[in-house]
Amino acid sequence: MTNRDYYEILGVGRNASDDEIKGAFRKLARQYHPDVNKEHDAEEKFKELNEAYGVLSDADKRARYDRFGKEGLGNMGGGFHDYSADFTDIFDELFGQFGFSTGNRSSRRTPRRGRDLQMSLTLTFEEAVFGVEKEIEFEREETCSRCNGSGAEPGTTPARCSTCNGQGEVRQVRQTILGQMVQTAVCPTCGGRGEVISSPCHTCRGGGLERKRIKKKVQVPAGVDSGTQIRLAGEGGPGTLGGPNGSLFLLLDVQPHKFFKRRENDILLNLDINIAQATLGAEVDVPTIDGNEKLKIHAGTQPGKVLHIKGKGVPHLRRGGRGDQLVIVNIEIPTKLTKEQRELFAKLAESLGTKVKPTEKGFLDWLNEALGG
Ligand SMILES: [Zn+2]
Ligand SMILES: [Zn+2]
Repeated sequence: MTNRDYYEILGVGRNASDDEIKGAFRKLARQYHPDVNKEHDAEEKFKELNEAYGVLSDADKRARYDRFGKEGLGNMGGGFHDYSADFTDIFDELFGQFGFSTGNRSSRRTPRRGRDLQMSLTLTFEEAVFGVEKEIEFEREETCSRCNGSGAEPGTTPARCSTCNGQGEVRQVRQTILGQMVQTAVCPTCGGRGEVISSPCHTCRGGGLERKRIKKKVQVPAGVDSGTQIRLAGEGGPGTLGGPNGSLFLLLDVQPHKFFKRRENDILLNLDINIAQATLGAEVDVPTIDGNEKLKIHAGTQPGKVLHIKGKGVPHLRRGGRGDQLVIVNIEIPTKLTKEQRELFAKLAESLGTKVKPTEKGFLDWLNEALGG
């Protein structure tokens, strides 16, 4: 067992999240995995990493460790488990293909596409409607600039792997209940490369990769919505052995607007008008995403009436043109009246009489009809 602090080994703070711990472990496991890192202390470090991760990735063990230190773990920390084996992508990166192949030689030294990255990008309602140029910042691994990705310190050359004699794969004879079976496996020493690095590059420690912070301007097209993904081809992780880079996916998240709502490419707006405007008709100023617009309210407009302002909606992402703005009319019944207004309403009441009748259509019927729901 190591004497070092587990958090220190993983290089994370004491209140690191599970994801941070996992991320730190993956990164370091890739760096110190004895199959890629031939430095004399790599194996020791790798074991240390596994020990630290085994405890900090287990909520129960982590809580004990936080309270009582290593003594609190008792026998819980014992035994060696290679946690990096739980991350198949680490092995994918190390070996190209992990496990036994069926003698298919193309499994080694085949070009591999780099990994895809994903990040979210928050936009205001207006930015989503009109499009915007955004600067994004993210981290990705790039081919190490010191060794050009070979993992060997410049000036040194990798040596032919003695385990597989440069073949990149080894044959194993296994006893099974069916008898002897010969299987071909990716060489565990060189990971299928056929060569081993005796002096690892000082920058990437033999991994061939370097983490870099990238700033990039991205053109977000008009008409995107929450959940839209933008794919930036080639901006993901680096490909290996001449394979293409992965992609960076931007997952868009659009913030709600104070009063506009979106329904696909239409923009909905609830508008309060007063009872006189509804009865007598009026011309009113209505906010649209492009600024105020004059809108004609016809005499006798009913609550729930939906008025269309053509072309003031959201642009269609792939074809030209825009949706409409739909104005849903609500009629405000006054709750505070001046003396004069009260007298006028009283007169109106007298003139309208007291007769009532059942309605054929209510507010929701109007609304459903107008919105085609
Ligand atoms: Zn390097
Ligand atoms: Zn080998």
